[in-house]
Amino acid sequence: MARLTGKNAIITGGARGIGAAIVRLFTAQGANVTVADVLDEEGAALADELGPTARYQRLDVTDPAQWRAAVEAADQAHGPVSLLVNNAGILAVGPITDQTPESFRHVVDVNLYGAWLGLHTTAPSLRRAGGGVVINISSTAGLMGYADLGAYTASKWGLRGLTKSAALELAADHVRVCSIHPGPIRTPMTAGMDDSLAARQPIARYGTPEEVAAMALFIAADATYSTGCEFVVDGGATTGSVILTTMSTGEA
Ligand code: NAD
Repeated sequence: MARLTGKNAIITGGARGIGAAIVRLFTAQGANVTVADVLDEEGAALADELGPTARYQRLDVTDPAQWRAAVEAADQAHGPVSLLVNNAGILAVGPITDQTPESFRHVVDVNLYGAWLGLHTTAPSLRRAGGGVVINISSTAGLMGYADLGAYTASKWGLRGLTKSAALELAADHVRVCSIHPGPIRTPMTAGMDDSLAARQPIARYGTPEEVAAMALFIAADATYSTGCEFVVDGGATTGSVILTTMSTGEA
């Protein structure tokens, strides 16, 4: 049975990677989906492939006017928005001493300010829908620190905090707000990273976009008593260290 029939979803960064997997799953589950991205060709091709319940909308998440246009268009097409996935994100790698102020601000603009703008602009529509769900795609970098990812880590911790404030503010309107914290997932964002990144995790492989999408569906459709929560999809990467265990058994 379809789990999201009649829902109206906006998924930012929906043209590829994790966002595209969420677009595909939510569409298959009966939702009307706005694929919102700056990759016009890929986003439009995905929407065309999925048929009339999916539509592409150009949306640079850092632009308030584009957000207003996107929410209005989604509303006109399918009624008030009941699902928002703030998934658009970018990465900049390098030590804090080398990163330029412009680069820092750009990462925080897309990953944090873009999600804030999404909440800010979509909240009235979610209220008119009588409630809904917002899913913010943070990261394990929103749960711990990463060297050489200062801006990214700051933005993803910020997104985790924003999730909690929004959950408190919107609960009375029956809007749940949760964050997902993926570990290493094979997408265009991680295309240049080798397999060793995941090799020491309990589940020693990269995750798939579909595994993150499955968590998004669970939050959207099943997790009716969860708000302000962190849902981790990381192959156990943030579970802890095995160093003491190996020391006590005498292993190297
Ligand atoms: P990706 O690069 O494949 O996809 C990101 C999408 O966001 C792209 O379609 C891109 O065009 C879009 N985007 C970028 N800037 C935008 C903007 N200003 N406005 C609208 N769209 C914009 O990356 P992904 O791996 O699918 O990442 C999706 C989300 O998951 C990101 O927030 C990322 O930080 C997070 N995440 C990814 C991983 C991973 O290992 N891949 C791990 C943890 C968290």
